[in-house]
Amino acid sequence: MATLPTFRTRIAPTPSGYLHIGNAYNFLLVHRWAQVMSANRAATSIRLRIDDLDQERVRPEYLRHTFDLLAALEIPIDLGPKDVADHLSHYSQRDRLSAYQLLLDLAMDQGLVYACRCSRRTVAALVNEQGITGQTLPTDSIHCPCVAQQLHPDHEDNCLRLMPTKWDQVLQAMAQQQQKSTPSEDISDPITAPGDDISAMPPVLRRRDKLPAYHITTLVDDETHQITHIVRGQDLWPSTILQQYLATWLNLPHFSKIHFWHHGLIRNEAGEKLSKSAGANKTPWLPSSNELKWLREQALDCHFDAQ
Ligand SMILES: [Zn+2]
Repeated sequence: MATLPTFRTRIAPTPSGYLHIGNAYNFLLVHRWAQVMSANRAATSIRLRIDDLDQERVRPEYLRHTFDLLAALEIPIDLGPKDVADHLSHYSQRDRLSAYQLLLDLAMDQGLVYACRCSRRTVAALVNEQGITGQTLPTDSIHCPCVAQQLHPDHEDNCLRLMPTKWDQVLQAMAQQQQKSTPSEDISDPITAPGDDISAMPPVLRRRDKLPAYHITTLVDDETHQITHIVRGQDLWPSTILQQYLATWLNLPHFSKIHFWHHGLIRNEAGEKLSKSAGANKTPWLPSSNELKWLREQALDCHFDAQ
């Protein structure tokens, strides 16, 4: 029987806009880590997983651009779709809805989630009421009235959120880990600092339209693919902590053991994240030879753990 590679990573773009230089940087770091591990004699594989569940925002030209960018970066993909048609026929997340639902069912059975009908406006008012607006890391989660009301999860107005008591545990873990690390602006530093404000309102795990949230799809996909190493931007550090807790509570043995490496973000001249800056996702960007050279140098500068 063939043995599985010991380093299994993935590139997981969301084609809700054209990818930008920040995505290219992330992909090159994934590739670089695989090269470092390979030099240490680990068998490695890079999977392409396209997060296309949000069909309202995904467009064929964005999908095509994902493959064009990977080709321009010369990143070899070992597993996953070879092109747009292959993706649509065999790899769409739409085909895995039942697997995502199974994990959500498990979360419901274990009492990890509650049905919430609060609108965005209600949530904003609750956050305001508790006087925690503007804090990067809230210390206590919000208990909205829905928790006690035990609303029906399938009602059309209701999403599913993580239980506030569980969100408190995650927030505490974030605070502890944050104390241990020194945030840095160096884009090549492995840092653990939240890139965005984190809401005191527990995160949504199933949306109002009954589609699984990003945390659920990534848990199921990475668990199924037995991913061992993930490279992410520092803005996803809070998601990592949450997902690690969810993996433990939901007993996902592979995800619980994943090694994470968070990198700094390439920002525009105004200091904004590229994903949030106007125009970054509006044109099908491909790197110039100078940009490619610069990006490769940045990736070479990174020091990955050889584990
Ligand atoms: Zn609510």
